[in-house]
Amino acid sequence: MAVPLRRKLAHCSFCGVNELAAVPLITGTGTAICVDCAYAGIAAVEGRRRARRASGRLTPSMLVARLDEHVIAQDTAKRALSVAVYNHFKRIGRIGTGERSTRLAKSNILLAGPSGTGKTLLAETLAKTLDVPFVVADVTSITQAGYAGEDTESIFRRLVTAADGDLAAAQHGIVFLDEVDKLARRETGTLDVSGEGVQQSLLKVLEGTQVSLDPRGGAGGGPAGTETRRLDTSDILFVAGGAFVGLDEIAAERGGSRGIGFGADIGGERAPAPEVEPQDLVSFGLLPEFVGRMPVVVQLQPLGPAELRRIVSEPVGSLLSQYEELFRLDGHVLSFTDEALLAVAAAAHGRKTGARGLRAIMESTLLGLMYDSPDWDPGRRLVVEAADVRAAAGETAHRPPVPAQTSPPAEAGRNTEHIERRAPLPRVVQAAAPVRPM
Ligand code: ADP
Repeated sequence: MAVPLRRKLAHCSFCGVNELAAVPLITGTGTAICVDCAYAGIAAVEGRRRARRASGRLTPSMLVARLDEHVIAQDTAKRALSVAVYNHFKRIGRIGTGERSTRLAKSNILLAGPSGTGKTLLAETLAKTLDVPFVVADVTSITQAGYAGEDTESIFRRLVTAADGDLAAAQHGIVFLDEVDKLARRETGTLDVSGEGVQQSLLKVLEGTQVSLDPRGGAGGGPAGTETRRLDTSDILFVAGGAFVGLDEIAAERGGSRGIGFGADIGGERAPAPEVEPQDLVSFGLLPEFVGRMPVVVQLQPLGPAELRRIVSEPVGSLLSQYEELFRLDGHVLSFTDEALLAVAAAAHGRKTGARGLRAIMESTLLGLMYDSPDWDPGRRLVVEAADVRAAAGETAHRPPVPAQTSPPAEAGRNTEHIERRAPLPRVVQAAAPVRPM
């Protein structure tokens, strides 16, 4: 007698519940979804849409307020950037009601200013605030296209990956093109063909074009064997960044008005630099067509010691709060005296790498403590003083041999105890009283 073949029960591809359960199943060709999962999916998409719509309603002043939480100083840049971004979202229809009667031009943004002053941070914070996908592309690696490194297409593949494969979201994303000043024609007589070539290759995507994402190229383009996806770059906001060393002089020669440019040091040592005009960027060596596609030029200022000091402790998730957390997890309370924080800022300022130097100085200052403190009983109060920072910053610069020694006698009062340690660890005082939880 023939045994009837058991039919395989249809089941939800998401939660696995089968057709015998109380939840109805919606079946398709070779796949199924239960009603609960379908509703959950709709709710997730709706939630994301609502978040997008909410972020689209952020006015320039709200954007500046959000930027202020993460980026110190750069007030002029924040205002210009926020207005440009707000207008960009008007253009792509995320803000405003009714039909647009006039075609709004694309407003890509060029951020010019010294390294480590917050160009990438500004663009990244904006993307997070607006809940749009974000990628950083180092344009100097595109220079080598055809040999090694990135081509323009791979930037957009990464953007789609950042959008979890959502092409529509990627098409409203932000691309930060880093080091665009390196694409400039050099003045040495040798024409930097590769840099110009990259500028040429970027012209179309800056303006708005269809980019084919070859499925063989990676996750963003879709799994191998699937058809090529096409991404439209028209509504992507491009933010270009570069140090543009020497641009001040070009602007000054042209006779630019004295504004606050990035030749100014907020610390007060240098005079304000002339305001940069698009023609100065062309004189610098960028193609006029490239500059023409970057209608908003924003200058960032060098960071003086006062701003660097604020960067250590003020932004959300600041360096100081991160190190405090690291020690808190071992049960200790870390603090820096005001003078120590100023010493960190002064040491970073001396390195002329903007805020980039801060982490290295904090790291070398705290290295010894991070090495030793996990072996100590919890509950110590660890105070870092200016001398500790200076010793560590100097040590990093010159790397002298490190002799073993005991710290000097206590200065911090009767209730303190010095911890024996190898130089040049920070001076550490231990509270006799138990440390209060933070
Ligand atoms: P760049 O101007 O070279 O793009 P980044 O934005 O990448 O510099 O900044 C380098 C590091 O310094 C980052 O860790 C960033 O958080 C910090 N940083 C730079 N400028 C600021 C600023 N104005 N406020 C807060 N942090 C900053």
